[in-house]
Amino acid sequence: NENQKLALVTGANKGIGRAAADQLAALGMTVLIGARDARRGEEAAAAVRAEGGDAYAIVLDVTDPATIEEAARWIEGSYGRLDVLINNAGITGSGRVSPAEAIDQIPSTVDLDMVRAVFETNVFGVIAVTNAMLPLLRRSPAPRIVNVSSGGGSLAIASDPDGPFTGLPTSAAYSPSKTALNALTVQYANELRKEGFLINAAAPGYVATDINNHSGFLTPAQGATVLVRLATLDADGPTAGFFSADGPVPW
Ligand code: NDP
Repeated sequence: NENQKLALVTGANKGIGRAAADQLAALGMTVLIGARDARRGEEAAAAVRAEGGDAYAIVLDVTDPATIEEAARWIEGSYGRLDVLINNAGITGSGRVSPAEAIDQIPSTVDLDMVRAVFETNVFGVIAVTNAMLPLLRRSPAPRIVNVSSGGGSLAIASDPDGPFTGLPTSAAYSPSKTALNALTVQYANELRKEGFLINAAAPGYVATDINNHSGFLTPAQGATVLVRLATLDADGPTAGFFSADGPVPW
């Protein structure tokens, strides 16, 4: 079906990305499950298909240019366009620990190589994937890009002495990577708004996934709702914004 929308979700083999893939498929979109591990991507795609969705795995490591190029080539050859890109893949750099235990994120003692690795995935990976997919997105009648950020990336919240992040350990790698992602989101949105792109950053909330050793209080399905909302905006929807399920998040 030529009119069926096509979405690519990076890091969709598990967690919030997997839930977003489920929800987009339930809306009738064809969903490409980006995964750096082919087998785990195939398992996730098979599970979405078992629920009646139209989903296919695609090998995509956002830090590996060869897989990004190959993914873009495959989408070009198979579909010739892309309607939705959700840049969801992300790491904290701390391994499977809750934020309260992430002492390795403390600025004065942080390992610079860890900071580099986090930016490589959460920031530079988004640029690489977005730019590779832009020619395909430009062929969509209504291109949408969702960058999965975090409330932890909000400078307004982090610098508010009465805000919710007061008392939490500081974060020299993860939170600044999401702040940089927010900045990029605005730059892309401004470049591409005249071409009809709607490009926004999403804060999923504190979601129980492997990234925080399942310490979050929301389900992946709850966390994914704002991603899906921003991926399915009407033409008069916002661009260059930052949203949680509750509405706009301060930058
Ligand atoms: P998970 O750890 O469950 O999922 C992360 C996903 O990203 C996995 O599929 C992982 O693949 C993938 N990934 C990591 N590195 C790469 C890479 N180099 N290339 C491709 N895929 C990669 O975490 P979440 O679902 O919680 O996280 C999803 C997004 O949501 C992240 O950007 C995160 O920062 C953000 N977020 C999460 C919050 C939460 O409370 N959970 C709160 C705020 C934001 P693999 O399985 O191979 O490791």
